[in-house]
Amino acid sequence: MHYVYRFRLYLNREQEEFINIQIGHCRFVYNKLLEIAKRNYEQEGKKWNYYEYKKLLPKLKEEFPFLKEANSQSMQEAVKWLDRAFKNFFKGLSGFPKFKSKKKINSVSIPQHFKIEGNKVRIPKLKTPIRFIKHREIEGKIRSISITKTPTGKFYLNVLVKREKEPLPKTEKVVAVDVGLTHFCTLSTGEKIENPKHLIKTERRIKKLQKQLSRKKKGSKRFKILVKRIAKLHEKVRNQRNDFLHKLSKHIIGDNQAVIVEELNVKGLVKNSNLSKHIADASWRRFIQFLEYKAKLYGRVLIKVDTFYPSSKLCSVCGFKKGDLKLSDREWECPRCGIKHDRDYNATLNLLKEGLTRLKRVVGVDCPELMPVEGVTIPCEAGSPSIY
Ligand SMILES: [Zn+2]
Repeated sequence: MHYVYRFRLYLNREQEEFINIQIGHCRFVYNKLLEIAKRNYEQEGKKWNYYEYKKLLPKLKEEFPFLKEANSQSMQEAVKWLDRAFKNFFKGLSGFPKFKSKKKINSVSIPQHFKIEGNKVRIPKLKTPIRFIKHREIEGKIRSISITKTPTGKFYLNVLVKREKEPLPKTEKVVAVDVGLTHFCTLSTGEKIENPKHLIKTERRIKKLQKQLSRKKKGSKRFKILVKRIAKLHEKVRNQRNDFLHKLSKHIIGDNQAVIVEELNVKGLVKNSNLSKHIADASWRRFIQFLEYKAKLYGRVLIKVDTFYPSSKLCSVCGFKKGDLKLSDREWECPRCGIKHDRDYNATLNLLKEGLTRLKRVVGVDCPELMPVEGVTIPCEAGSPSIY
C-alpha cells in the first residue's frame, strides 16, 4: 500500500532559491520536450515514446547549459510526468498534454539520494538540510520524496512510503458511526465523540476575523494583514483536525472488525452554503477516507451506507418511520411502541442494522464470525455495551 505524508517545509533564502531553480528547470524540461513531442505528433503523426524522449535529456543539457545545475534524477522524473500525461491522452482519459505555467502548483520529484534525519531533509546538490515540521512519525518504507510549492508560496515535503499490511488480531465487534450535529459523531455503543475544544476555538477565531474582514476596505493594509492571519489559522485548523481524525479513526478501527458509516453525497456538499456545516461535512468525508485507509492497512472492513437510507427517521425498535422529524428534534418518542429516542443514538442503531445486512454480502470467507446477522438484538438504552 502506498501512502503519502505531507509536511510543511521551512526554507531559508538560499534554500528557497535553490528549490525554485530546481522546480523551474523541471518545468523547463517538461515544456521543452512537450514542444518537441507536439511538433512530431502534429507534423509527422509520431507518437510519444518515453525512452526516446528521455534520451534527449543530455542534448538539452548541451543546448541549455544552465540545466547542469539541476538534479538529473529530478529531470528524469519530469519526463515521467510527461509520459503519464501522454499515456492518459492516448487512453482517452484526458486531453492533449498542456504546457505547465508558473501559476499552477509546482513541484520537483527527488527519487533517490535524499536523507530524512529527524525533522530535517537533505537533498542532492543542496549543502544544508531543510527543516520541516514533523507532526507525525513516518511509518513504512520510504520510496521517494517530492517538494511542492503552492500558489501562495508555501513549500511542502511529500514523502511516499510503502506500508505492508499489518492485520490486527481479529475481534468480533462491529460498530456503526454516525455524523453528529452537536458533536463530531455518535457510536452505536452509545458513546458520543465531541469535537476537540482547541479545534472549536480556532474555528471561532476564524469566524470572528472573517467578520472583521468584511468590514475592511478591500485591498487596504489592514485587509491584507487580516487575510494573512485567516489563512494561517485555516492551516492550523486543518492540522488540528487531521490530527484528531487520525487518532479517532485509528482507535475505532483498532477496536472493531467492521465499521459502518453513513456516506454523505457529494452534491449536497457542494450546494451547502453554510460555512460551519460545510466544514463539518468536509471533515466527515476526510474521516471516512482515514477509516478506509486504516481498514485496509489493519485488515478490517468498512461499510458505507448511502444517505438515502433514512437512519434518523426510523424507530430502531419497531421500525416505525417518523416522516415529520425535524432537524432540531434532538429527542423523540415513537408513537407506535412508545420508546424514547436520542436522535443520534437511534440513527446509529439503524445504521448498524442496515450495515450488518450489507456486511453479509461484502464479507467473504475472511471473517465468517461476522456473517450471522439474523437475530441480532439491538439494545435500546444509550450507553449499552458493544454489539456483537
Ligand atoms: Zn417504535
